[in-house]
Amino acid sequence: MTFYITTPIYYVNAAPHLGHAYTTIAADVMARHHRQRGEEVFFLTGTDEHGEPVADAAHALGIEPQQLADRNAARFEALLPLLEATNDFFIRTTDAAHEARVQSVLARVRDNGFVYQGTYEGWYCPRCADFKPENEIDPGNLCPIHHVELTREQEDSYFFKLSAFQERLESLYAEREDFVAPRSRYNEALSFIRSGLRDVPLTRHRLTWGVQVPWDHDHVFYVWFDALLNYYTALSYAREGQDLTDATWPPDYHLIAKDILRFHAVYWPALLMAAELELPEHIFVHGYLLMEGEKMSKSLGNVLDPVAVIERFGADALRFYLLREVPFGQDGTVSTLAFETRYEAELANDLGNLASRTIGMLTRYRDGVVSSSELDTSLAAEFAGLPQRVAAHFDRAELTLGLEEIWQRVRRLNRYVEEQTPWRLASEPDRQGDLDRVLASLAEGLRSVTVLLWPYLPGSCERLLAALGAPELSLADAMFGAGGIGRVAPIGPLFPKEAAPSDD
Ligand SMILES: [Zn+2]
Repeated sequence: MTFYITTPIYYVNAAPHLGHAYTTIAADVMARHHRQRGEEVFFLTGTDEHGEPVADAAHALGIEPQQLADRNAARFEALLPLLEATNDFFIRTTDAAHEARVQSVLARVRDNGFVYQGTYEGWYCPRCADFKPENEIDPGNLCPIHHVELTREQEDSYFFKLSAFQERLESLYAEREDFVAPRSRYNEALSFIRSGLRDVPLTRHRLTWGVQVPWDHDHVFYVWFDALLNYYTALSYAREGQDLTDATWPPDYHLIAKDILRFHAVYWPALLMAAELELPEHIFVHGYLLMEGEKMSKSLGNVLDPVAVIERFGADALRFYLLREVPFGQDGTVSTLAFETRYEAELANDLGNLASRTIGMLTRYRDGVVSSSELDTSLAAEFAGLPQRVAAHFDRAELTLGLEEIWQRVRRLNRYVEEQTPWRLASEPDRQGDLDRVLASLAEGLRSVTVLLWPYLPGSCERLLAALGAPELSLADAMFGAGGIGRVAPIGPLFPKEAAPSDD
């Protein structure tokens, strides 16, 4: 059983920002969860390096496009360990093996009769690296996304016969209602398809910064086709001397943002059909994080900068906040103030206190040893089926709902402490059996939620599970009652309220 998940490859004409971190974190959380299920996971991310915007940006800096690509790809790659991302490969579309594979797939598309020669004329946005249909141009002849003036372009082109896939794409959407999620994005893609598909340029004639067209060396492939194919090409060379394609293809999840919906939900399946390749299982479209700059925290200023958050509060705090604050799949606002509020209320108080009081009481009353007492049956009932419910959310990429399901149990355990008042039981000689049961149930509940939280908070959960003497991480281990706690060891605060001071 393999689980193949991708982020979009990030475009190197700009520096990494919060949006890139968001998609990468989400993909990593899913990858880790599927590893917990015992699946063979392949998690791919990387950089998109060709096309006119990169060539133009390099030109403006007086350097070669490859130099710009090298410089910015390194910045994207450096962000990954900071986020605790466990990607299996980092693809760059300037990799020679990628380029060779793009050429062979697109030559097959041509051999299959889906490429022809023509002239394209239209309104072109250099920032999108895309022609804009007449009905999508903003007043003043502006790109609706970039608000820059469009230019009238005409050039010889090879075309991809997208129109030939009208019916097959409509049937795909009819047969697989979960091909694109959330539902609003599925509807958006389907209505674009139903509006009538037109052929699209596959190559650029005047541009040299791209993958050369093997049958006509005066052309390079249009950057979008080169980029989309990264999901396929990477598998052929990610492991030296090994081709993972047969074992791994097709992808289970492409995570994308909505600005690239059409390329992924329409062009991409059509291209795969033209190349006779299997289609991905799911395309999941997350929303935008809108920055609310007025809600400022003391320590982070007004901009939620992923690197600044990580330096002060750690990667776990950022990972948790982004998936907790904004329901995954919807747009939402984030702010440094909301970040600090959640950090204190949920990480430091809900989870941090639960961990420290549980371990503290076990140490104080039982010298760190969890008795083999019966577990509380009412608590067991409330935890029954929890790993399965979390897994069901993950199957639909409902990362925020999955987290909420777990967090309810974190809060339940805190209430359990208040209800059972172990400190009172400890002072009553004839209630020692009850104290054993309460402490064992509490420790077991904490262990269960910690295993389930690991994809979201990997570093903190590993520390906590080590303190519980129960490092097992599989989804089966997350079951309440699976046990395994031996002797607990004291642990410092998982989420210190006084975060590390910054250098300045
Ligand atoms: Zn644009």
